[in-house]
Amino acid sequence: MFQDPLDPNPYSQEYAQKLDEQDELGCYREQFYIKPDSIYLDGNSLGLLSKRAEKTLLEILEAWKTQGIDGWTQGQYPWFYLAEKLAAMSAPLVGASEDEVIVTGSTTTNLHQLVATFYKPQGNRTKILADELNFPSDIYALQSQLKLHGYDPAKYLVQVKSRDGRFLQEEDIISAMTDEIALIILPTVLYRSGQLLDIKRLTAEAHARGILIGFDGCHSVGSIPHSFSEWDVDFAFWCNYKYLNSGPGGTGSLYINRKHFGTSPGLAGWFGTRKDKQFDMEHQFHQAETAGAFQIGTPNILSMAPLIGSLELFTEANIEKLRQKSLHITQYFMDLIERELDGMGFMIGNPREDERRGGHISLEHRDAARICKALKEEQHIVPDFRAPNIIRLEPIPLYTTYCDVWETVQRLKTVMTEKQYEKFDNTRDVVA
Ligand SMILES: *Cc1c(COP(=O)(O)O)cnc(C)c1O
Repeated sequence: MFQDPLDPNPYSQEYAQKLDEQDELGCYREQFYIKPDSIYLDGNSLGLLSKRAEKTLLEILEAWKTQGIDGWTQGQYPWFYLAEKLAAMSAPLVGASEDEVIVTGSTTTNLHQLVATFYKPQGNRTKILADELNFPSDIYALQSQLKLHGYDPAKYLVQVKSRDGRFLQEEDIISAMTDEIALIILPTVLYRSGQLLDIKRLTAEAHARGILIGFDGCHSVGSIPHSFSEWDVDFAFWCNYKYLNSGPGGTGSLYINRKHFGTSPGLAGWFGTRKDKQFDMEHQFHQAETAGAFQIGTPNILSMAPLIGSLELFTEANIEKLRQKSLHITQYFMDLIERELDGMGFMIGNPREDERRGGHISLEHRDAARICKALKEEQHIVPDFRAPNIIRLEPIPLYTTYCDVWETVQRLKTVMTEKQYEKFDNTRDVVA
């Protein structure tokens, strides 16, 4: 832990206050709506609303109110170009050029689009490689895409096994890259354990074997910097409502490496055409020469509007600095947990090395479900629970303070020492 020679006790509340005073990102907290007296550590599931996001949502509503159909081409944010504008703002977060990103669809529908586009079984190369720890929606999408091709997912979807139920070994993934694999889909950061995969290495290994590879960036975009273009990743997709604070059900995003710009979208629609041709209303598809080609229908303008304001904050704060704080505050969190909660049955289940972890702490406990309930109801702390035994805790660098983290550990200690969790069932709620 960072040691200040003037303060011998890095576990004190004063020390947390000192860290907050030194935090140059501390100024962004007032941008967010945070329930007073509550500590929100669930920005990895749904980011909080910022004043800036609220403002751009209201501006877009105003354009609708006052301009009607003309909002498509007029006003501060003409809707016809909004997906491209947001793409330009997102591109630095993923290390891409503006035209390689588009804001469209949802994580799952974008995955369907990408698999429909890039999965081209040929000869012996017919299988899709994924992993056994990925988010279920991704797996459902892959299974159904295989069925559309007449393939039995039980045989054609290869899921790399985890040795310990937490992590994936890059070597195991690479060994599974056989000459039967046509396409690889992996998460950048695993949603439970927070493991960050070596995207660059996996991409190079896939390409050395002639396999296309795409990544689900739901748990990394807005949390860590990426260099998708430099790493030569074929494609990626992610949601904007977690770390990017765009609101519940906010529109998703995708990245297409420019070398694939000519590829026909598997699922085509009129928003995938060149913008100057779209309103010619011809039946011939004039494909956009950008990632925009992979859009399908009319963008969900109201679900994209908050992202404008939110991405302004990311542009100002800078993703490298956000990552620095995230690594520091999570390390601080882990140090406090190990010291204050020792012997209470907790285990830190995320990787410890900075280059192997995302932004959340994965705290395992056999009573995790009811500890989460007690934290929320008795202590006004919002964590999230992932079955069967994980408490996810994410300090968000834009709005979580070091004092929040210090306080969380104290309250967690109270939940345990006073056995407050015993009042609750150890089962998950409908939405966990
Ligand atoms: C959040 C998340 C999703 C959600 O997909 P939606 O289509 O936005 O509902 C999918 N995959 C991963 C890995 C996620 O973390």
